[in-house]
Amino acid sequence: MENRIVGVYDNEIKGPLAIIIGGVHGNEKAGVKALDLLFKMLEVEPITNKQFKFSGRLVGIKGNLQALSVDQRYISEDLNRIFLREKIESALLQEHPVDEEAELIGIINEIDRQIEEYQPNEIFVLDLHTTTASGGIFTIVNDTPESIKLGLKLDATVIEGFIKDLHGTVLHYFNEENLNRPCVSLCFESGQHDDKLSVNRCIAASVNFLSAIECVEKFHIETIHEEILNNYANGLPKHCKLIYTYKIDKNENFRMKPGFKNFDRIRKNQILATNKDGCIKAPSDGIMIMPHYQEKGSDGFFLVKDVLGEKIPKKSFL
Ligand SMILES: [Zn+2]
Repeated sequence: MENRIVGVYDNEIKGPLAIIIGGVHGNEKAGVKALDLLFKMLEVEPITNKQFKFSGRLVGIKGNLQALSVDQRYISEDLNRIFLREKIESALLQEHPVDEEAELIGIINEIDRQIEEYQPNEIFVLDLHTTTASGGIFTIVNDTPESIKLGLKLDATVIEGFIKDLHGTVLHYFNEENLNRPCVSLCFESGQHDDKLSVNRCIAASVNFLSAIECVEKFHIETIHEEILNNYANGLPKHCKLIYTYKIDKNENFRMKPGFKNFDRIRKNQILATNKDGCIKAPSDGIMIMPHYQEKGSDGFFLVKDVLGEKIPKKSFL
């Protein structure tokens, strides 16, 4: 079996434990590629930049190894919906857990091992994803004030409220209650699955994350990644809240109308999708997030609203 650990970076200056996960969905490879590059960048940084200091330990982890190897979202169930106590307990009782249950145990064991070994005072988790539709990057937070504050420092739209409408995601599990020490977790959506720049945006968000949690001071790593992130994010709302989730019923024959992108403005009663009973209309005005254009998964689309009325500014990278 492939190694779950992409890398461990630790310069023996005590600090937080930073965990970055890529490929929790096996068809979302950008996060894994970004982690590979990030560790390579960290290897060379102290050579080219004598001022470089890293506090804490960074661990890069691959999520769903089996699904990554076949380029599928998942094998038998969505790994990002089964981070649930009952599920973990039942998987632990099995002698040979398979498919996503094996992945779930693999990830949890690895993170427990890192916590045990490093004994951090604080843990921060960043879970990297991509979406089927293009047109937006955003950070999903677990709705604690700490995660919202940290999310805003990643320089992409922060969306709160997902945690209430979804269950068993990485964000639901990695918290203080389950890990017995302060833990802030968030998820970063870096753009379309096959867009090469999604990798750059994952790197930029990871660097911003490491800087926000004070593992690194102002990084000297090329600002090109951050520039790519800002090119995409500027003009998007800074902070949004989930207002509506469309759950797909197994036999309804849900079809999203073609052409929707993340952050499209939606009008009340606009036709968004169809099913066996006819048209599915928007229940209110809103902003489209993650329209469903893939085979697997049970979320049709999400509508969010802008809570601040503030946009992400265009930055200058001279
Ligand atoms: Zn995903």
